[in-house]
Amino acid sequence: MAPDINISDRPPSIADLLAARPHLTMHAMDGLTLEGAPLNAIADQVGTPVWVYGFGTIRSRLRSLNAAMAGMNVAVHFAMKANDSLAVLKVIGLAGAGVDVVSSGELRRALAAGISAQNIVFSGVGKTAGEMAEALAAGIAQLNVESAEELETLSAVAVRCGRVANVALRVNPDVAAPTHTKIATGRAGDKFGIAHHEIVSLYAHAAGLPGLRPVGLAVHIGSQIVSAGPFRDAYARIAGLVRELRQAGLRVEVVDCGGGLGIGYRDEPGGSPAALAGAIRATLADLDLRLMIEPGRWLVGPAGVLLASVVRNKRTGENRFVILDAAMNDLIRPAMYEAWHGIVPVSAADAIMPVGPADIVGPVCESGDLFARARPLPDLAPGARVAILDSGAYGAVMSSAYNARPLAAEVMVDGDTWAVIRQRQPVEDLWARDVIPPFLK
Ligand SMILES: *Cc1c(COP(=O)(O)O)cnc(C)c1O
Repeated sequence: MAPDINISDRPPSIADLLAARPHLTMHAMDGLTLEGAPLNAIADQVGTPVWVYGFGTIRSRLRSLNAAMAGMNVAVHFAMKANDSLAVLKVIGLAGAGVDVVSSGELRRALAAGISAQNIVFSGVGKTAGEMAEALAAGIAQLNVESAEELETLSAVAVRCGRVANVALRVNPDVAAPTHTKIATGRAGDKFGIAHHEIVSLYAHAAGLPGLRPVGLAVHIGSQIVSAGPFRDAYARIAGLVRELRQAGLRVEVVDCGGGLGIGYRDEPGGSPAALAGAIRATLADLDLRLMIEPGRWLVGPAGVLLASVVRNKRTGENRFVILDAAMNDLIRPAMYEAWHGIVPVSAADAIMPVGPADIVGPVCESGDLFARARPLPDLAPGARVAILDSGAYGAVMSSAYNARPLAAEVMVDGDTWAVIRQRQPVEDLWARDVIPPFLK
């Protein structure tokens, strides 16, 4: 048999990338716009690199997620580790959704953004006693507990604070989600959750511990999952456990279904809210539960771009390198997960020029500082700008100041207006807390 010509080996063109992303449009005069706002104008005023998020895109994605869940009792808790900007949290809060936090810092950020404590769930494998006390004092809705050891600590902290903690046990369902190994979290060997065969006895134990009120179960099998199968498998296990717990006479009111719904970064289809809703409907919907979902990436990923300017073109032998002023310290996903991000010229004139393969890199002193290899792009003169697509999740939040590169500015677009939502970090901030000890003076 002749080998198939796999057309999906050919990366999507600039036109393909834009056609799949209706909030991004190329205008003959203004160049690339996000929800109508010209990205060149934003870069002119704020400089590059800069992250730009669309308010309308986040809001409409949240609406379609809620619409898909219609008829079921499902509350959305945005996993704010995907994007913790106060303005983004405000969008989430205004839409009536809550958040999932994984640290005291995130809890304080969420409260600072006006998210009500009643709409906050605390997840994570390593909550400290201090973080537990803070969460209980704030009166958050629920803590998702990941081990027997954590349960003992939480009970002691709750008693000491004179509070009762609503607790869900996070189940490790031993489901291998088809995703990058660094973001799969539901396999038996992963650090997350409690083995499902230990859940019933631990839940009964928790019910007897002072200061704790076990309310249900939680599960989160990983991130960037685009098919419904792994969700259905995990939720079926959870449904089985709910029945077992109830048969043992234990009250189960809540199941937190976690996050993980993926998006299409290249030309692959993204995860669908309807398919996720279908997995929930098929497994958990008839159990008279309050259900939660914790999407992060799906809500905000497609809503953001990272704008960068070309510093220089460099040709060595066969290779053409386009060196940007953004780097792995800004967006680490390509270096960390071999992630593929679309890259589109911002000027309309650039976008219609003939393309040839280019390696798109940053200036950081690491060969891994590479956004794309052999990407079909036009010649881009120094100063030309590009948008790195689908950067709204796990983008700015994972930035570092490596190579003494300050954290980039962030902007939110609303219709034809836009605003800076996080100022560019002044470079002096980078050593403001450095101390030269007396013996060096
Ligand atoms: C990371 C995380 C999420 C969100 O994952 P996404 O893939 O961004 O949807 C949800 N819940 C928990 C517990 C997480 O750790």
